[in-house]
Amino acid sequence: MDRYQHFVTNGFHFKPEEPEYWHTYLINNILLILMPVFLFLIILNVFVHKLYAIALIDLIAIVIAVFLLRYFHHTNHVRKTSLLSVVFYTSLLVVYILISGPNNYSFAWILIFPAISYFLLGRDAGRLVTGLSLVLLILSFTLFLPLWSSADFSFISLVNLLFAALCVTILISFSELSRAKAYDFIRLKNEELMRLSHTDALTGISNRLKLDEVMLKELARVRRGTPHFSVIMGDLDLFKRFNDNFGHLAGDQILIEIAASIVPICRLTDTVGRWGGEEFLIICPETSCEGAMILAEKVRKAVESLPLHRYGSVTISLGVTCSRLDDDINTIIQRADKALYLAKSAGRNQVRSMQSTNHQLSLDEEAIELFNN
Ligand code: GH3
Ligand code: MG
Ligand code: MG
Repeated sequence: MDRYQHFVTNGFHFKPEEPEYWHTYLINNILLILMPVFLFLIILNVFVHKLYAIALIDLIAIVIAVFLLRYFHHTNHVRKTSLLSVVFYTSLLVVYILISGPNNYSFAWILIFPAISYFLLGRDAGRLVTGLSLVLLILSFTLFLPLWSSADFSFISLVNLLFAALCVTILISFSELSRAKAYDFIRLKNEELMRLSHTDALTGISNRLKLDEVMLKELARVRRGTPHFSVIMGDLDLFKRFNDNFGHLAGDQILIEIAASIVPICRLTDTVGRWGGEEFLIICPETSCEGAMILAEKVRKAVESLPLHRYGSVTISLGVTCSRLDDDINTIIQRADKALYLAKSAGRNQVRSMQSTNHQLSLDEEAIELFNN
């Protein structure tokens, strides 16, 4: 079963949420099913009906299926393989109809035309190919009809056939349209869910999940050789007192306004998020510690000068650090936290950094210990 799944998905070349995944599934299955079907028809046409010309067409159909499967697995071109399949098998169908003539309900095969074209080529190309083939069919019937005996195929048969083909086309077109609409709806809902799962409900900036994801990505990029990134951690000063004085709702409003004032100061490539209650984190890709210090100072000034009407003013302390090759999320956050602690210890409303070399780190740790003592 695993080998079958592997084969019909071209070795899982596309992800299940991509439309090409099911397209790949469909093409492989159709081509696989065609082989035993045509093998059975060869046996039937050679040994029972003695129709060798038709048996030859069946053999060609198997060869085409093998060729298309190999081509598809080699290139992973969904659209080209679909188009080649439709062109090859349509031509074969036309040859079959012309050879077998208007006998044995051979024209019934025309009804599978719309289904194959719509499913393999998609709605727009499918509509075009079906429309073109129906026009071609009407033209060729007009040419051949006078040559056939009316007992085998009459004008009424033609009208019935074309009307049935039209009904099938409309039904398939509707089913494809509703499938596409449902797919669009699910895609939009998924995008919305993804955005919500990455957004802090109060402030509208990134939440901790998103910040973790961005840091993991940045750590991976740094290991591949891109310049280091910096992290700024900010914590509002004496915010508990603010809440006690003005209430939690006022505190929430301030958090919203501060978040909105930090975002425009940062670059579009930076990620601004809420790390915890009244703690903010800014991730700055390809930014040195010095660059991040400048940004942190801008944030400090912006928060300090934010007009908070009757609430007076709020200040923020910020700790800055730059990534190291051997970092993980914990180690880089620990350094930013220590730098923030230094800023608080130095009297709040300040920016401090914890440099990323081991030597300077130990110096800063000594400073914290000195402060604690
Ligand atoms: P410090 O300068 O040392 O940071 O003092 P602080 O009072 O800010 O201390 P700390 O950071 O430990 O306290 C966090 C306070 O922030 C506690 C709580 O009253 C407040 N806070 C945390 N999350 C929220 C929130 O979502 N809304 C509101 N209104 N207040 C919050
Ligand atoms: Mg705090
Ligand atoms: Mg605080």
